[in-house]
Amino acid sequence: MRDIKDLPIRVRNAENTSDDQDPDGNLNVWKEYAAKHYNWNKKTKCSEYSCFDDDDLVGAHVDVIEENHPDKGEQFIIPLCRSKNSKQGEEFDIKGDTILMPVDELNS
Ligand SMILES: [Zn+2]
Repeated sequence: MRDIKDLPIRVRNAENTSDDQDPDGNLNVWKEYAAKHYNWNKKTKCSEYSCFDDDDLVGAHVDVIEENHPDKGEQFIIPLCRSKNSKQGEEFDIKGDTILMPVDELNS
């Protein structure tokens, strides 16, 4: 039996976030959040399901749209390739073990 953490999570690249603060800065906030709450100390990689790039990442806003996911409808910050992040509104899958940082943390 596969672990649920192996299953992809469907998300939508959030729209109208271009006037947010610098997305590179959001990536640093994500790293701090992941370290604090999950003892994250690995090399940060892209969250997209089939992508393992680890350079030119940004902290991207995504909405979870996975049916039956406990966080469906909520918006989070995740590490994502810069090129991927530019495609606003696009739906794609992320890795099931991605650390989802609630957007509220940006203002805390
Ligand atoms: Zn990627």
